[in-house]
Amino acid sequence: TEADGTPALIQAAMPGHRTLTARVWIAQVGRVPLLLLDSDIAENDEELRGVTDRLYGGDQDHRIKQEILAGVGGVRAVRAYTRIAGLPDPEVFHMNEGHAGFLGAERIRELVTGAGLDFDEALAAVRAGTVFTTHTPVPAGIDRFPAELVRHYFSGPNGENESALLPGLGVDRILALGRESDSRVFNMAHLGLRLGQRCNGVSKLHGRVSREMFVDLWPGFDAGEVPIGSVTNGVHAHTWAAREWLEFANRLAGPDRVEEAKGWELLQTVEPRELWVTRNTLRAQLVEEIRRRLRRSWLQRGATEAELGWVDGVFDPHVLTVGFARRVPTYKRLTLMLRDPERLRALLLDEDRPVQLVVAGKSHPADDGGKALIQQVVRFADAADVRHRIVFLPDYDMSMARYLYWGCDVWLNNPLRPLEACGTSGMKSALNGGLNLSIRDGWWDEMYDGENGWAIPTADGVMDEHRRDDLEASALYELLERSVLPRFYDRDGSGVPRRWIEMVRHTLQNLGPKVLASRMVRDYTVQYYAPAAAAAREAVADGFAGARQLAHYRRRAEAAWPAVRVAQVDSAGLPDIPEIGSKLALTAHVYLGGLRAGDVVVQAVVGRVGPDDTLSDVVTVPMRHTGTDPLGEVFEVEVALPMAGSVGYTVRVLPHHELLASDVELGKVVLA
Ligand SMILES: *Cc1c(COP(=O)(O)O)cnc(C)c1O
Repeated sequence: TEADGTPALIQAAMPGHRTLTARVWIAQVGRVPLLLLDSDIAENDEELRGVTDRLYGGDQDHRIKQEILAGVGGVRAVRAYTRIAGLPDPEVFHMNEGHAGFLGAERIRELVTGAGLDFDEALAAVRAGTVFTTHTPVPAGIDRFPAELVRHYFSGPNGENESALLPGLGVDRILALGRESDSRVFNMAHLGLRLGQRCNGVSKLHGRVSREMFVDLWPGFDAGEVPIGSVTNGVHAHTWAAREWLEFANRLAGPDRVEEAKGWELLQTVEPRELWVTRNTLRAQLVEEIRRRLRRSWLQRGATEAELGWVDGVFDPHVLTVGFARRVPTYKRLTLMLRDPERLRALLLDEDRPVQLVVAGKSHPADDGGKALIQQVVRFADAADVRHRIVFLPDYDMSMARYLYWGCDVWLNNPLRPLEACGTSGMKSALNGGLNLSIRDGWWDEMYDGENGWAIPTADGVMDEHRRDDLEASALYELLERSVLPRFYDRDGSGVPRRWIEMVRHTLQNLGPKVLASRMVRDYTVQYYAPAAAAAREAVADGFAGARQLAHYRRRAEAAWPAVRVAQVDSAGLPDIPEIGSKLALTAHVYLGGLRAGDVVVQAVVGRVGPDDTLSDVVTVPMRHTGTDPLGEVFEVEVALPMAGSVGYTVRVLPHHELLASDVELGKVVLA
């Protein structure tokens, strides 16, 4: 509320001289105020009241209004909040996925109307203080709008280029920020990538996949050079670790030290029996919870108490417990475990070494495919011969999920690689000594070390989906039969599965500190927020001198670029049979089309020559500007060959400015 107690209202202009108004709610999450926008207020007409009525599932028109409110309205809400709370304005904006991408356009507007910058200068200032994180390689997870729809919402009341929503900005410039190669499509991830000077994916593998996915935005560069890094997601220990483990940590390391790797190392001193007792306690709690929920679910399905006596015999607190809980987009393959029902049945019903499987899931109300998958699991789990060993729990949510993460011995995850950007459920399990049994996707690809769980081999490259599922399901059964179950049931004289417990201990020690959200926040701070804050400061200092300089440079570079060419490259010293370390001297004559030598970097690119004359395993070495001659600027370098055999080289020119985060940033390169 404003100082006088009236609600603080956020507004955004809508087509047809309408206004979308929202109230702001504040949810205090720990020390972090979370601002929530609510359009269901009397100031709006019926249609606009509905803008915030759902998270997913509206049509594109509904969705773009939500994203305008989140992006444009979001900035306005932050401004209102800092004004009322007397806080300084934030320096860095972090866009998680493209949904709030329009916030960059709103900040450009602020600078154009408030600080007198032109669009390019404002864009340079905004980019400096923006971090963009892409969260999914699944195309359906990325919002794309018809460009005409964006134009409809941003243009003037009579379709003018001057935006009514963002006065002072031209719609064409806004559209260009989200353009795909097909200019009729506006892509919110492209918008984010063009508005953020620093970008990342959410695991190492996802970073790699994203570099390939978005390589077209940096034409002329190999995927490996695309400036999208990665920060692996993490989970909040105090939310997801069982009280039993947190008490353990307190006892070993002192209160509130779970964030430190040192504390986890102290687990070395704990007796295997003590770890085993804790695992048993948590499993037993889970079994109780499963019976409770199963009973409730059957009562809701119309069963009577009298028919449900069998529920008390569902699950056994001493049997190896595997958990699988998901939302059910198809790439997560909820039903992979049912691929060979007889083999699964045999695993569940084994007399000596049985396994019990708890599956939880939730599909989107509009996702009929997802519901059909859940029905398949339910049908299998309902059968009288297996229903004591496999259950499906509906309404997967955080309060249920905690019991699963606490109590399961093994956490199963079998997405279609590489579509799981990170995944976090396995991290929550690991925080409780659960062992991951997972496809090497997302976080598991980088953190699996051979002793903290199992990697299900993937049939990457097998194009036939059914065959791929068969192969991967079969690998999953085999791991369970040959490795997981024998280890769990291999007990010492006092009944403790020592080799299993060593894996539990190793998981807690090794993964514990790595899967934490505090590690993630530290990574973002060091690698992204601090550099972005420094860049933003430099951009705005002295009346936006940095932003003006960079915009001016960018305009000059873009104008000159079509004329830039490598006129000639001379080499000397390459022996007939090149050896590692042989010295290669290169001289390049480069025509810069009006740019100065300091406006570019010229690089020697040396690598292995393939049959089609392409270079691989390249190293790039900057060349020194040594003078000017009639062919242009002269650049020279002596390179020690990084390899023997068929070595080739080329020379390339990239734009360079000290306020760019890298020479690749502008996506411009000229090759010899
Ligand atoms: C952790 C969690 C998720 C996300 O898990 P993924 O591994 O990313 O699929 C979803 N729902 C609930 C309730 C969770 O606790």
